[in-house]
Amino acid sequence: MNFNEELKDIKNYSAGKPIELVVREYSIKAEDVIKMASNENPYGTSPLVVEAVRKVCDKMYLYPDDSMYELKDGLLNRFGVTESNIIIGAGSDQILEFIVRAKANKNNSVLMAKTTFAMYEIYAKAVGTAILKTSSHVHKLDEFRDIYKKRDDVKIIFLCLPNNPIGECLTKDEVYQFLREIDDDTLVVIDGAYQEFASYKDKNMKIDPADLIKEFPNAIYLGTFSKAYGLGGMRVGYGIANETIISSLMKLRPPFNITTLSLKAAIEALKDEEFVEKSMFLNFEEMKRYEKFANDIGIEIVPSYTNFITFLLKDDKNSTFIANSMLKKGIIIRDLSSYGLNAVRVTIGTSEQNSQFFATFSKIYDAG
Ligand SMILES: *Cc1c(COP(=O)(O)O)cnc(C)c1O
Repeated sequence: MNFNEELKDIKNYSAGKPIELVVREYSIKAEDVIKMASNENPYGTSPLVVEAVRKVCDKMYLYPDDSMYELKDGLLNRFGVTESNIIIGAGSDQILEFIVRAKANKNNSVLMAKTTFAMYEIYAKAVGTAILKTSSHVHKLDEFRDIYKKRDDVKIIFLCLPNNPIGECLTKDEVYQFLREIDDDTLVVIDGAYQEFASYKDKNMKIDPADLIKEFPNAIYLGTFSKAYGLGGMRVGYGIANETIISSLMKLRPPFNITTLSLKAAIEALKDEEFVEKSMFLNFEEMKRYEKFANDIGIEIVPSYTNFITFLLKDDKNSTFIANSMLKKGIIIRDLSSYGLNAVRVTIGTSEQNSQFFATFSKIYDAG
């Protein structure tokens, strides 16, 4: 059977390996496996959220409230926007898909950093749009400017702030300056999957969605509950933009795209700011240990504004070998060779997990 031509060129997104796989393949007990490959919150989920979700379990035979009134209410109170500025997705991933389908096609192009969140490219390929990339692994706005000025068909620009999988960020002032140079008909996506981390570390990195969309009617801010809020398994993300953008994206949203349990979880998660605050604090405390560790064994890193750190390896080390060797020891990290990098990305874990990581990684690194 033949499928659309566009699919031929798409490589499957390789998600971080699940704990179950390590249990099956290496006969390691589930409780001994440490997952540091998908940037989940190592402190789990707020107990208040777990409790609230339990209470709605007996309602799962009903479709959820498709207006998502309560969640939107929580978000608009948090961000100071109105309901017409918000769209909810099954992860912010789903909103990325709506954005690309709504705006990109065979006759135009999209622009992104050379090394950034892999789904931008996958969605873009699916609609056959031209994909333009900068030349550096980290976001350099001058490179975006150069490409943008040379083309008159760029309809989406993706800025991943902070950037996954490298961890760097741009200041709000740099981003706003750049946005002023972009035409009204180019949609700029600010992917804020790790914004909670970046703004915790450095206020200059903070992009406030309400302020952003007031000044830039062509920008959309994406947030997710998967990382800071500890709800990766629930699949909830949101987009904030002016109502013209939101009303167009809403046309592509399937009904009931979030489950009853996910909705409840996200609503409650917004109420427990203390949990997020504590996660941010511990993340950056533990991050210091990684910086010291990398420094001690002579591994290059880029300062990270996220909950992960990327080790850029020297040529005599091999990222795939190292990631696989770690896997056999029950520690799942992310090999970045599919991004064309000899590097591994490690999600910052709990103190205990990190100590185990250091011990295991040192041995493997020395050996190969
Ligand atoms: C994790 C992540 C997302 C989306 O996560 P969802 O779980 O789909 O909400 C989006 N962008 C980046 C850069 C991410 O790392």
